[in-house]
Amino acid sequence: MERAKLLNAIIENAIDGIITIDDKGIIEHINPAALTLFGFDRAELVGKNVSVLMPEPDKARHDGYISNYNHTGERHIIGIGREVTGKRKDGTMFPFRLGVSEVKFSDRKIFTGFIHDLSRQKDDELRIKSYTEELESKIKERTQELIRSINELETAKEHVSAMFEKEKELNQLKTRFVSMASHEFRTPLSSIQLSASLIDKYTLKQDATSVEKHTAKIKNAINNLTTILNDFLSLEKLEAGKVEANIHWFDIFPFAEEIAEEMQLISKQNQLIVYEHKGTTGQVLLDQHLLKNCIINLISNAIKYSGEDTMIQFNSVINNNELIIEVKDNGIGIPAMDINSLFEPFFRAHNTGDIPGTGLGLNIVKRYVGLMNGTVSCESAQNVGTTFRLHFKF
Ligand code: ATP
Ligand code: MG
Repeated sequence: MERAKLLNAIIENAIDGIITIDDKGIIEHINPAALTLFGFDRAELVGKNVSVLMPEPDKARHDGYISNYNHTGERHIIGIGREVTGKRKDGTMFPFRLGVSEVKFSDRKIFTGFIHDLSRQKDDELRIKSYTEELESKIKERTQELIRSINELETAKEHVSAMFEKEKELNQLKTRFVSMASHEFRTPLSSIQLSASLIDKYTLKQDATSVEKHTAKIKNAINNLTTILNDFLSLEKLEAGKVEANIHWFDIFPFAEEIAEEMQLISKQNQLIVYEHKGTTGQVLLDQHLLKNCIINLISNAIKYSGEDTMIQFNSVINNNELIIEVKDNGIGIPAMDINSLFEPFFRAHNTGDIPGTGLGLNIVKRYVGLMNGTVSCESAQNVGTTFRLHFKF
């Protein structure tokens, strides 16, 4: 009797719900915890089929589950336990863990269901899941930000190293210029010094003609130095990307004629510069300043690398929106092995001997022509002559 009381007290005070049903599914006993969970009074449930506490489809199938077990002995839930859904009196649902055991008496058997509410646990699981999802999305966002920062850093790094490369190239150019200049400046400088001391002598002697001759020599030497310095400054500007083509329409004919006349003044004895234009129009779309610089470079090479009593042909041809400018001489020509290197800065062919030069002119020509979207080419045979050709489309 004492034991029965104790057992009853345990059942009545259990935190989990406990329900006993007969082998037809009819509720025989239900403890307060189960009543609270389902929201019913005891009187409302005792004697009712336990399926009232279930939602569909279990509700309709429950009688079948029991009779199936009674016939086959196959266990689906008994002694195993499972997570199921319960239906409260007010129609709301809640998850719980159901453990069912079978109690056999001599004349009949009953089933006891132990109901452990999982609502809190499920809520916690949901909360943890949404928290995890939130965390994952934050991590994704941060990762994306990190990738973006890394990319920005990479770009900045590339930018800096490109700038560094450019700076290095410019420095190399300057170093080469210094070594070239220290060599190239020597001749005009010693000629200036010689002429200056001779001028002193001739002034004493009051020999005006000789003084004049030497001041002319000084002027010429200074011109040479200025040209070298200007070439270098042009190259430095080009290297630093500071030169831009300023393109507009103009007539090539008077423009080229003027250059030919100017160059005639500085040509060698009996060197004749002949300019000729072919084409129905003279209109071209180019940068006058850059083009003039190119032509002067080519004609001064023709003058420098050919002898006295020779002719330099300077031609312009316009055909179908194309302009070809040619400068042709009968000079020393260029060795075949050097032809491909002509446009490199500081390059000079092997046959230049003591003809002065820095090897910068053609490099500047090529870059200026490039800025005007043109091309430059060269044909030459040693001791026969050289032709430089500029080609523009507009
Ligand atoms: P500068 O910078 O003073 O012009 P440079 O004349 O030596 O010096 P470039 O004009 O760049 O330099 O020419 C490069 C080289 O090409 C020359 O040193 C020369 O060897 C060769 N060259 C250029 N034009 C001619 C030409 N008309 N005939 C023969 N060689 C030429
Ligand atoms: Mg030159």
